[in-house]
Amino acid sequence: AYNFCAGPATLPEPVLRQARDEMLDWRGTGMSVMEMSHRSDEFVEIADTAEKDLRELAGISEDYSVLFMQGGASSQFATVPLNLLGDTGRADYINTGIWSKKAIAEASRYADVNVAASSEDSGFTTVPLQETWNTRADAAYLHYTPNETIGGLEYDFVPDTGSVPLVADMSSTMLSRPVDVSKFGLIYAGAQKNIGPSGLVVVIIRKDLLGKARAETPTMMNYQVLADNGSMYNTPATYSWYLAGLVFKWLKEQGGVPAMETLNRRKSGKLYDFIDNSEFYANPIEPRFRSWMNIPFTLADEALNGAFLEGAEARGLLNLKGHRSVGGMRASIYNAMPEAGVDALIDYMAGFVKEHG
Ligand code: PLP
Repeated sequence: AYNFCAGPATLPEPVLRQARDEMLDWRGTGMSVMEMSHRSDEFVEIADTAEKDLRELAGISEDYSVLFMQGGASSQFATVPLNLLGDTGRADYINTGIWSKKAIAEASRYADVNVAASSEDSGFTTVPLQETWNTRADAAYLHYTPNETIGGLEYDFVPDTGSVPLVADMSSTMLSRPVDVSKFGLIYAGAQKNIGPSGLVVVIIRKDLLGKARAETPTMMNYQVLADNGSMYNTPATYSWYLAGLVFKWLKEQGGVPAMETLNRRKSGKLYDFIDNSEFYANPIEPRFRSWMNIPFTLADEALNGAFLEGAEARGLLNLKGHRSVGGMRASIYNAMPEAGVDALIDYMAGFVKEHG
């Protein structure tokens, strides 16, 4: 079966097999990783190796701390302002879809939020170009969502914010294409798309932004505390961390992020080409900003949605139903989706048109 779920998403099969093989006895310790003390030599090695591999994959320098936190990406919607607002209390946000809006709503509880640009008028089918942004030079940071998982909208540029720290919710694009980390103040990513199990959230923060948390910030949300304790102020999500480490090793074996870029460009390109050349399927996003990871599409006749999904499932093409807020279909094709999965989907879509179109 091929699982097109937006998250939790498909994981690389070799990773799941290795986790199964090591489940009861990790390297002769007689213990599952799930049962290990997070302070044990064994687990500390697992944790350190995962961080080292992620640093290598994403090109993260020693100017940045890497944190393995909990509470998913949504907890970062509050954690970011609590830590970064500083004395100004001001933050700029770009609104390009449902995930941006959630981040804005949560930050507005703590910050003087300025929505510096929004593509809501277009139905979130485009990204407002930076020339049109109404940003503030004294904002504590600028937050944006490089890939909107629900809308299938992805920036093809990294904003230039000068001395204002750039903050990105990379949950659904992390490690899918090369990114120059040095352009960012902070990157966070919920793990359940390209990294590992849900609940885990990876935070990459430039070290000069540590230590600015508001006094009332919960200890567990204080980046400085997490950094000082190697993400082990409390018991971390050990098993998820271990699985993320296996995914990082798998990624390195595949040729790292550049190899993913080539593959993701090809996978998404052939699906968009097929949609564009068909009179039956449609994708509303301005071509330049089409996501490589999440590809929503509609059928010419909505009444056929049920039949489409039923037929897909019968062929092992799972979770193609679009998000409840936008309807239609959505194929999420993260790093771990093999090209054969995309080919199988296109085959099925072509056959469906012949039968129903
Ligand atoms: N941000 C983006 C872009 C997402 O796609 C998601 C989840 O799909 C989230 C945030 C929320 O992540 P979590 O469920 O881990 O809180």
